[in-house]
Amino acid sequence: MSTDLQPYAAHDSDTRGRRYPDPPHPYRAEFQRDRDRIIHSTAFRRLVYKTQVFVNHEGDHYRTRLTHSLEVAQIGRTVARCLGLNEHLVEAICLAHDLGHTPFGHAGQDVLNDCMQPYGGFEHNLQSLRVVDELEDKYAGFAGLNLTFETREGILKHCSKHNARQLADVGERFLERHQPSCEAQLANLADEIAYNNHDVDDGLRAGLLTEGELCAVDLFRDHYETLHRTGNEISRRAMIHETVRAMVNEVVTDLIDTSRATLADASPADIEAVRTAPQPLIGQGSAVRVRHRELKKFLHASLYRHERVLAMTRKAATIVSGLFECYMNDVHAMPKAHAGRAVEWSGELGDAGKARAVTDYVAGMTDRYAYSAYGRLVDSTVDTDLTR
Ligand code: MG
Repeated sequence: MSTDLQPYAAHDSDTRGRRYPDPPHPYRAEFQRDRDRIIHSTAFRRLVYKTQVFVNHEGDHYRTRLTHSLEVAQIGRTVARCLGLNEHLVEAICLAHDLGHTPFGHAGQDVLNDCMQPYGGFEHNLQSLRVVDELEDKYAGFAGLNLTFETREGILKHCSKHNARQLADVGERFLERHQPSCEAQLANLADEIAYNNHDVDDGLRAGLLTEGELCAVDLFRDHYETLHRTGNEISRRAMIHETVRAMVNEVVTDLIDTSRATLADASPADIEAVRTAPQPLIGQGSAVRVRHRELKKFLHASLYRHERVLAMTRKAATIVSGLFECYMNDVHAMPKAHAGRAVEWSGELGDAGKARAVTDYVAGMTDRYAYSAYGRLVDSTVDTDLTR
């Protein structure tokens, strides 16, 4: 098992660098510093109170954005090691990938995007980049965390052409149809593997899915039945865990084997060759891709569209759009720094500037902070139990 960096990996010594000059650290490598800066950021700490699928107070055992990000990083690091990729860079991207997520998961994001339609919309990937580039207030010499190009490239996994044109360096690949680094490709897949498989576990725990229903999905059924055939007496919880564990293992092992073969075939000379390759070089084999996609489709139909999840979505939408409207009507209802930015940006850009400042503030909120702000400013009779 190789732990040496391959030529096509991101090498710290070849980074395209940071936006502001920053002398090298005596004993920490560049991507390691990025990882450390992300862990020490305020936005990272907030992830613990942001919803993945289930709202925080439904129970203490569900994934939050924080535990999800840690699981993504864990999968990413394992694969990076096997493929000789830069583990620090993969970890940095994985830990940062959800920093721009709004309160209440996808529900919050969709509503903010609706509210922002007249002003250029809202994309959570772009917001994650905004968090690390602009919004974190930590350093004397610059705004943001001043991360390397490679970490920022990986954080921006999707971007509309319109927005890509506004961004310099990290936007270019969306216009030129280039690939990101192998590390960024891997982080993206690690995210998908983590949430698909762990949503099975959370969905079962919440009683929104049953093992019987999940047996319609090959990836679940094959491992579940294999475990049953052993005839061992195991608890339901252990049975579920063992099944999910085997599912993750199948998908990750395939990702390693397939990517290794693709890389050997293409043998890119360096990271630039990875970027200009016609196709991504990190990916799943076609058989496992079909099995994994079947699971994803099932979760879309059965879990994300479950009445209880939809009920939560509707309440979340009311809260997020109510807050947006409230701060648009009175920017001084926001804390001073945010209100100041709203005034300054509306001077430059009119309502679009004001709306951007309001969105930065609302997007940064945790679920519980958003409830309490809504209760205080908009509707004190709000039922803050999203599960009812
Ligand atoms: Mg994610």
